[in-house]
Amino acid sequence: MKRKIKITILCVILLFVIMLIMTGKTVFAADTAGLTNYYVYNIINRNSGKYLNVNYGTDANGTNVNQYTGDGSPEQKFTLHWWKGDGIYKIYPLCSDSRALDVYRPLQNNSSVDIWEDNDDDAQLWKIEKLSNGYYVIRLAYNTSLALTAYGTANGGGSGTSSTSAGNVFVSTYTGAANQQWSFSRTPALLTWDLVASDKHLYWTGTTKYSSQFATAVSNWNAVRPGLIVETHVHADRATISDFYEANSGVVGQTSSGGTIKFNTYYMDGYSTDRRINCCVHELGHALRLDHMKDASSVMYYSNSTTNKPNSQDIWNLNQAYLYY
Ligand SMILES: [Zn+2]
Repeated sequence: MKRKIKITILCVILLFVIMLIMTGKTVFAADTAGLTNYYVYNIINRNSGKYLNVNYGTDANGTNVNQYTGDGSPEQKFTLHWWKGDGIYKIYPLCSDSRALDVYRPLQNNSSVDIWEDNDDDAQLWKIEKLSNGYYVIRLAYNTSLALTAYGTANGGGSGTSSTSAGNVFVSTYTGAANQQWSFSRTPALLTWDLVASDKHLYWTGTTKYSSQFATAVSNWNAVRPGLIVETHVHADRATISDFYEANSGVVGQTSSGGTIKFNTYYMDGYSTDRRINCCVHELGHALRLDHMKDASSVMYYSNSTTNKPNSQDIWNLNQAYLYY
């Protein structure tokens, strides 16, 4: 659901790369038909037509997951990460960099679903099965008799966490009921704001000591959409780039809805050229409305990397964002 208050969003790159992607996963079988690893989806209940939703998008352990009228917000978008063979996935909410869709223990019939730190595979691995009617059943891999279920047709809330709370989402013994079946609809990973002017150009001004890497970053986006990002000293609606110094904060760069793009010299000075370019491409991506991705090959991966050219998902997201500028 949409946030009720206006907040200034600062978006950062974390310094500490966690090699989750590379460890402990053997890929040897097929993923689920019709679903693509690392794509971002709306997950829609067959019975209610409402969207799987993290309550207010609050990025905290235990935040309730419910169903809500579709509104395009990040709290209704989820990345599928194919974890291992046989259609088993982690499901990551776009509103969090570190949390996963999770069953609030105990792992039993009618237990509520929330988001939690990505550290409990039994409660967080889901086996997704495609039905002959085209819908999907999302089963808890730990106990596949339990399936993701939404109660009724109302919007859910934050505190109604029982199996009969209006609009709550929980796991229950699968019976084939419509409220235990879901559809997946690919959706772009977008923020709710951007720094793009009304004529669909991102104008910028200001200075950074990483100007050559920043120029490469601009070129890499403009290679996707020629002329998209333009330096200007005169256009009224423009983003301002600058550097700042903040030791040990984990923040490499930040972009704000107020129109600033900043690079932290504390980290950037020690970085390779590719890492600096990555930071510049990434922050420009935020300015273009792009949200974080779970795929390390994306320039919008939530942690700093050496990737500096938009991949196919980044391009798709940009083209979707362009429709809204
Ligand atoms: Zn970021």
